[in-house]
Amino acid sequence: MLEDTFGLVQLSTGDLLRAAVAQGTEAGKQAKAVMEAGGLVSDEIVIAILRDRLAEPDCARGVILDGFPRTTVQAQALDALLAETDQQINAAISLEVDDAAMVERISGRYTCAACGEGYHDSFKRPAKEGVCDKCGGTEMKRRADDKAETVASRLEAYHAQTAPLIGYYEEKRALSRIDAMGAIDKIAADLGTIVEDATAR
Ligand SMILES: [Zn+2]
Repeated sequence: MLEDTFGLVQLSTGDLLRAAVAQGTEAGKQAKAVMEAGGLVSDEIVIAILRDRLAEPDCARGVILDGFPRTTVQAQALDALLAETDQQINAAISLEVDDAAMVERISGRYTCAACGEGYHDSFKRPAKEGVCDKCGGTEMKRRADDKAETVASRLEAYHAQTAPLIGYYEEKRALSRIDAMGAIDKIAADLGTIVEDATAR
């Protein structure tokens, strides 16, 4: 919705890494070597990949960072990267959901393998069971780490490592909070308002 309405590009860390590896960029080659050795790609490599990607023309109107930064160290590195081109984070949006609701939401979600449209066992089922509303695809996929047991440990990691970013962006006056316990339409409308205000600044 935000991409369509505001002409922004959504960048997730996973997609960025895969694209850089596929393109064989310098940073992509480094990431590939680390991943093949079973290691975690360092913040330095992720930042280098992000630097390359942000320089591409489709990012000129701004980007939505999805899944990055996850730690204060990454947030500081991101600020330093953006400062190189006189840019900044216009809005850091905290979608606030109870942990119990989070487990239900994450463990129930799946996507169409063909077009990526998102669905949910309880909240957003396709009109015809097993058939994508958008493209008619019939293959649905679930992330391996979206199982309820795994979600609990992901939440622990979130509280320990990522939640401190709320204070980080609050101090920079970039933080907006959304009550994300409500209906999808209401959350989408609130998101739209925040991004509209942020891009107007
Ligand atoms: Zn589809």
